[in-house]
Amino acid sequence: MKPLSADAYVEGVRAGDRTVLARAITLVESEHPRHAALAQEVLTRLLPHTGNSRRVGISGVPGVGKSTFIDALGMHLVGAGKRVAVLAIDPSSSVSGGSILGDKTRMARLSRADNAYIRPSPSSGTLGGVARKTRETLLLCEAAGFDVVLVETVGVGQSETVVQEMVDFYVVLMLAGAGDELQGIKRGILEVADLIAINKADGDNAPRAERARAEYRAALHLMRPGAEPVITTCSALEGQGIDTLWDAVETQVARRAASGELARRRTEQQVGWMWAMVHDGLRAALRAHPEVASLVPTLERDVREGRATPTSAALRVLGAFLPQTPA
Ligand code: GDP
Repeated sequence: MKPLSADAYVEGVRAGDRTVLARAITLVESEHPRHAALAQEVLTRLLPHTGNSRRVGISGVPGVGKSTFIDALGMHLVGAGKRVAVLAIDPSSSVSGGSILGDKTRMARLSRADNAYIRPSPSSGTLGGVARKTRETLLLCEAAGFDVVLVETVGVGQSETVVQEMVDFYVVLMLAGAGDELQGIKRGILEVADLIAINKADGDNAPRAERARAEYRAALHLMRPGAEPVITTCSALEGQGIDTLWDAVETQVARRAASGELARRRTEQQVGWMWAMVHDGLRAALRAHPEVASLVPTLERDVREGRATPTSAALRVLGAFLPQTPA
């Protein structure tokens, strides 16, 4: 499809026109160099109209109930008169073309709500590339007047760091069974969470969820003294605890806005984003450099076979890429 004019994107997005918003997102997602300048022009013109939403990250392992939770939370927010956008970052789709977040119909109620907009994860590119597209999509949604932007990701690998770098507040969904989980892989995510919700706190599972909450509280008190996240329980399926959870998000974000912490965090995120883009660009340029490409197989073999030290090989790569670097 032929791109619209910059004016048409800017006006359509500002008017909250969903068709134009969808096309603007497709434009920023495009890998085509010809679209990049237009996308940046549109974003630059929309920038003064961004920054007014609650940006909330939501993570959790597959099966924890993310879609059910976002459906329930989204409906709660829509019911309170808010406009809600849901974006996703799916690290699996950038690696394998498959997806963990899945293509099944998720968020059944929210996907039919007039005041909600759900955009699936960009399906190609590196995690850095997907993050760039999601950040820019978030800005477009803000310019289109959404009050809350929920950024969903699977709590595995590095995607949680990427999400943390674009949101104001980070919710992590967990299941009861804290004992095992605290030992292992989810430590990283617990260190950055602003709120931990033990989901599926319903039926027979409710007492276990309450116990898990107490265990998490004790563990996080040790892990992050003075900076403990809010810990709560909920049942996404039954819609229990969702309103309390959102109240806690609002309270915390308002407190940070009042102290200036929110503005500082967003400013640092902007600078971090700039550097992430510089690093991505350098990596891409390095990969595309013909002399580097022809050197690499020999250098890798020399390093493997002990004929060159990693440092000397690295200096040769850099010397080819940046001729002024001493080789
Ligand atoms: P996701 O993979 O994290 O998006 O998880 P889903 O939202 O698809 O949920 C996985 C399964 O858990 C589904 O069968 C849901 O119905 C179920 N589920 C989600 N939330 C709850 C809950 O609060 N209580 C119970 N009992 N089941 C839930």
